[in-house]
Amino acid sequence: MKKIEEYVRSIPDFPEPGIIFRDITSILQDADGLHLAIDSLQDLIKDVDVDVIVGAESRGFIFGMPMAYNLHKPFVPVRKKGKLPCETISQSYDLEYGQAEIEIHKDAIKPGQKVVIVDDLIATGGTMEAAVKLIEELGGEVVKILFLMELAGLKGREKLKGYDVASVIRYE
Ligand code: 5GP
Repeated sequence: MKKIEEYVRSIPDFPEPGIIFRDITSILQDADGLHLAIDSLQDLIKDVDVDVIVGAESRGFIFGMPMAYNLHKPFVPVRKKGKLPCETISQSYDLEYGQAEIEIHKDAIKPGQKVVIVDDLIATGGTMEAAVKLIEELGGEVVKILFLMELAGLKGREKLKGYDVASVIRYE
């Protein structure tokens, strides 16, 4: 059986020179790769008491939603600004050049709910740090943060100190 990292396609110089992009479409387009990715992530929370799975747009939806379905838990999307139709709260965060903003529906998390957040990859950690702030502003408790891939050299975990962070594949 192939290992999960063997399904990841690494693209040099995308989207900019010097960046190695870790492509997940090569995992998803293989039925075994898809199962292995979801099962590996889910395994990381097999002993975790969770009420809600949150996924960060957009690749966090791909991995978070099947987990919520399998566990019979609700799924809540954190989306880019301007996409959610009801009342939202938002959080901005720094990108390499400029800023971005993400949002969540105000009624999506109830105070005291235990939340697992899922994204495909952690680089600088800025996206996930902003997602954590949104959930906590609504009174949710972040019990686990999951990534399929971690670019460890960028030290994104330092932005998530004090949280239980886990990843399936680690690149140095
Ligand atoms: P961060 O906020 O941690 O710097 O960046 C993480 C976000 O950027 C994630 O939402 C992730 O989807 C996206 N991202 C950055 N680099 C890559 C990459 O090489 N591959 C994939 N699949 N996503 C990336």
